Amino acid sequence: MKNLRTIAVKEAQNRIIPEIKLNSTKISSFFGSNVFDRKKMKEYLSKDVFQKLMSAINHGEVLNQEDANQIAAAMKAWAMEKGVTHYTHWFQPLTGSTAEKHDSFFEPSGDGPIEVFAGSALVQQEPDASSFPNGGIRNTFEARGYTAWDPTSPAFIMENKAGKTLCIPTVFVSYTGEALDYKAPLLKAVAAIDKAAVEVCQYFDKGVTKVNASLGIEQEYFLVDLALYNARPDMVFAGRAIFGRMSAKGQQLEDHYFGSIPERVFAYMVDFENEALKLGIPLKTRHNEVAPSQFECAPIYEEINLAIDHNQLLMDLMEKVARRHNFKVLLHEKPYAGINGSGKHNNWSLITDTGKNLLAPGKTPKNNLMFLTFFVNTIKAVHEHADLLRASIASVSNDHRLGANEAPPAIISIFLGSQLNDVLDEIESSRAIINKVKKEDNLWLGIPKIPQIALDNTDRNRTSPFAFTGNKFELRAVGSSANSSASMTILNAIVADQLNKFKVEVDKLIKKGEKKDVAILTIIRKYIKESKNIRFEGNGYSDEWAAEAQGRGLSNIKTTPKALDAYVSEKTMDLFSTLNIFSKRELHARHEIMLENFYKKLQIEARVMGDVTNSQIIPAVIEYQNKLIENVKGLKEIGLNNDVIAAPLSIINKISDYLGVLKNTVDTMLEERKKVNKIEDSREKAIAYDEKVKVYFDTIRYNADKLEQIVDDSIWPLPKFRELLFLK
Ligand code: ADP
Ligand code: MG
Repeated sequence: MKNLRTIAVKEAQNRIIPEIKLNSTKISSFFGSNVFDRKKMKEYLSKDVFQKLMSAINHGEVLNQEDANQIAAAMKAWAMEKGVTHYTHWFQPLTGSTAEKHDSFFEPSGDGPIEVFAGSALVQQEPDASSFPNGGIRNTFEARGYTAWDPTSPAFIMENKAGKTLCIPTVFVSYTGEALDYKAPLLKAVAAIDKAAVEVCQYFDKGVTKVNASLGIEQEYFLVDLALYNARPDMVFAGRAIFGRMSAKGQQLEDHYFGSIPERVFAYMVDFENEALKLGIPLKTRHNEVAPSQFECAPIYEEINLAIDHNQLLMDLMEKVARRHNFKVLLHEKPYAGINGSGKHNNWSLITDTGKNLLAPGKTPKNNLMFLTFFVNTIKAVHEHADLLRASIASVSNDHRLGANEAPPAIISIFLGSQLNDVLDEIESSRAIINKVKKEDNLWLGIPKIPQIALDNTDRNRTSPFAFTGNKFELRAVGSSANSSASMTILNAIVADQLNKFKVEVDKLIKKGEKKDVAILTIIRKYIKESKNIRFEGNGYSDEWAAEAQGRGLSNIKTTPKALDAYVSEKTMDLFSTLNIFSKRELHARHEIMLENFYKKLQIEARVMGDVTNSQIIPAVIEYQNKLIENVKGLKEIGLNNDVIAAPLSIINKISDYLGVLKNTVDTMLEERKKVNKIEDSREKAIAYDEKVKVYFDTIRYNADKLEQIVDDSIWPLPKFRELLFLK
């Protein structure tokens, strides 16, 4: 067989850019056309049922069977007009991707076949889902799980070349009621923060009856030609290049960021954006990222549950559409060693039903007290539960990125920007509060004026994992392939819990006779003091910070298995049972699933490493070595002296050295893996995989990459970084 790499390079070079049919140049004319949104609900439902559905969406009221029947009938009518034949409950199991099981509307009946979609099928399904990760929750005798409709996220139509499917967003729970997915706990956390924030809002504005968390997710990704990707077993199985030396040119010239988008990539972007816009995903931004072949897109922010559904859907679309362009999209956090990895910045805020962004500084001191309340409570929440927040972003792939001098470190800290830092410092030392002013008017002297912050001029400190950016916080440490629900469930839960505690403390002071605003400011001041440690304005990538953070007592947990401990700590158990988001059993199950996921992925990587080394790299190396040996023999034969054969001999020696270490290390790793596989306890096993198996990866790679530099280019089997990253 001809070298697969050569064939792939040729294919990649001769790609023709597919013709893109735009829906219309006016996005508003087709935005959301595949979504059963409010406008369509109104059109297809009776006034009465429409109202009930709105109450279900806005206030969680329960719909009865008859209403559900009407809604299902309306959805079916709309969907069939658009050529839909099947429906599916669409859910987010703990595998990380989305799941669907399609059923046809078609049903035989006494009077001949008809198309049906009953309310019961809309509201609930029982997928035989016993092989989804469940962390021991599901015993065989209770093997059923069910999916239940989430009316707050609208149904949509997924278009494939071969047909269209109506997708109903659902939660996925076990028969005994435990969550088996990402959405169920997120919805609970969203409800918790709504309740907590509304109560705190009452101090300032009685008109607030609902608070939504908002989220805008920036998504980074890499593109690689499909043929080249397919010629790399490591990328196919692990999503990243486990081998490969960085090409002579990487990102050092900084010429890719915001550069002109290559034509082939541009066509791909337009294509998937088009699909996304039809599904109501409000994509707004596209650009080149820092690393070669790295890009980013970002939508306009939305209500958090919807934003996360949209991000999951978007990742799915990006993969599907990439196929049409002979691209593979890499959502892995670190596909290539030596250049930047990818993240998913989660821009988060709280917005009231009166339209106020609670994290936007106000113009008057009174408004600012409201802003400060939410601002400081968020800081305090992150300070209290930094370890849990760290755990929520932990994964085998994100371990490559956190702290790798390009992404936020594994130390959770908060960046506020100098202006707001000063404001907090000023409050901390304010005499007006210390002296418990008697006259309310004087109190406002205690609140520093918060300068209007020009949004463009806020934080360009990209080294912070959690940064305030003018009117929102940005959690930057989330991995590019992650389901944002994991970290957003935690963030909303810890802030909700904090707001509840705040309310209790303030009410206590008020009861003692303190004026409301004084009470609020007193507690804010206390929180500022207590959470001071977590604020950091400097360079998060520096070694000095790691040392300083240690001095401050902040955790720096570098690897996933240990970071995950925070999910099952007493503190976390208490937090979640108070808020009724996770039971102990659910937390233990999740912990187990995450540990399993960690070591299983490492196991796959270790296997691929062994396979590629033994069946691709070593044979290529030996082939070249033989050529050199022939060469030396020939030189000797024609009577040339030792000076002449010194060069090829030295190459042979060098090759033999690297080859020896490579082979030995792969064998040792294999032996270790066998031992580690016998460990029963998941946490122990995950740690062992990290410390006893993964430790060999670097040596194996180092030697293989050295050989890549020496061996005849035309023999080398794996597409090289210059081909993966620079063929446009
Ligand atoms: P940058 O790269 O400077 O962070 P982007 O424009 O790429 O900026 O992304 C900012 C993201 O933050 C967008 O998705 C945007 O919709 C979102 N965003 C803006 N305001 C809010 C808010 N109040 N709540 C949540 N997300 C927001
Ligand atoms: Mg950003």
